[in-house]
Amino acid sequence: MAFDNLLSFIIKNRLEKMRKLLLESDLISIQKQIEKYDYKKLQLVKKYHLINGLNHVVKNSPYYKDKMPPQIKDLKFDNALAIIPKLPFTTSAEVSKDSEQFLAIPKEDVVNIHFTYGTTGGKKTIYNSKKDMEQINNSYTLGFLNCGIEKTDIAQLVYSFGVWGLAENIQRVLLNLGIITLSTGNYVNFQEQQQFIEKFGTTVIFGTPSYVYNLASECDLPQKSKDKMKAILVGGEGLPEHRRTIIEERLGGEVYINYGLNEVGGGIGSECKIHKGYHVFPSVHVEIVNPKTREPVDIEEYGELVVTTLNREAMPLIRYRTGDMTRLIDGDCDCGLKLPRIDYLKGRADDKVVIGAAEKYYPINFDLLFDPMPEIKDYWIEISTRNEKDALLVHVLADKPSKKLEQKIIEKFYTMDSIKIDIETTKTLNVPEVVFIDKLPKGGKRRRLVDKRKFLK
Ligand SMILES: [Zn+2]
Repeated sequence: MAFDNLLSFIIKNRLEKMRKLLLESDLISIQKQIEKYDYKKLQLVKKYHLINGLNHVVKNSPYYKDKMPPQIKDLKFDNALAIIPKLPFTTSAEVSKDSEQFLAIPKEDVVNIHFTYGTTGGKKTIYNSKKDMEQINNSYTLGFLNCGIEKTDIAQLVYSFGVWGLAENIQRVLLNLGIITLSTGNYVNFQEQQQFIEKFGTTVIFGTPSYVYNLASECDLPQKSKDKMKAILVGGEGLPEHRRTIIEERLGGEVYINYGLNEVGGGIGSECKIHKGYHVFPSVHVEIVNPKTREPVDIEEYGELVVTTLNREAMPLIRYRTGDMTRLIDGDCDCGLKLPRIDYLKGRADDKVVIGAAEKYYPINFDLLFDPMPEIKDYWIEISTRNEKDALLVHVLADKPSKKLEQKIIEKFYTMDSIKIDIETTKTLNVPEVVFIDKLPKGGKRRRLVDKRKFLK
């Protein structure tokens, strides 16, 4: 026990040093400090936070208090991580049903509230304490460092500002780091965004993949501005690989994808210069489970990502089922950073739709289909039932809607074998229909596939 205490003390002090560095915004020192981390040290830090975090949960979380296994009382430092598979899962629906049940600090100690609209389970209220906000700052800072951001950068923030809090978090962290930030949001038009880039010499852009892709398609940046551009940081949605190339060609710089969920306190991981998956931040523990059996899958095998927050004060979440499908990447990353990696998301388990004769589709399948068509500015697909068959209604935003374009879109569907077979052979799908729209539905994150069919459960 004495040894455990001593170890905790040492780790705590090391973390204090790290925190101090982060607060001082001395980017070079932080980078050096992070590079010194190895798996062993990270495991120690993780165990330390897990034990503290679980003690806090058992004592203060109305939701988890009575759900914890008895072994938790005599948790030893050495095998602390072994307790995780014995802990209960938490679902998105449970959090949205009564977010307050998850609040583990007095309400007056909450300093930040935001909301998140998940794809299932409805709206969730997310609470953060002052310490949680520092933790968010630290994770984001670490993510920015992985992408090579420096104090001399000029950032342009094109996320929508509002209840989901992502833009505000980034803005705050950039302010702390002393980086000039043009918070243009997504309210000005693309020409104005371009004027900002040119006038102020933007070197980093932050936005959702779909908005940044549209911005890249609409902008015609002079080479001088492209040369200045260093990094484009996207997050909040997935990014099809070919869009990465188009964005880099048209805006300059290197695209970095960041992955996070508001429910677990913002950042989960970020890409590094090697661009092979996301390095997972030390503030969370991740597991990959089979979504049906909930059993862990083998290393490198795909499954559902489950996240446990390690040192979250206001709203700790235990084994939170994200619905996102990914896998752990084995082995070291060439960048030298020892943080574990997860692969790009294969899709959200709940974004997946089954159309026609049991064929599974993710939104990316349709992005791949329509991206080569410059006439299409944006689109979303509504799925319903007509004549006892599935029906697809494609809402298309286009500069010049025409009968010819409509026909071209329908022909595009036929290039997907599974769609063609379901229309012609299995007769489980109607011929897709197109409707042209003037503007997109409002909101930061949009769903590409909206399923309006009614299923018996
Ligand atoms: Zn790396």
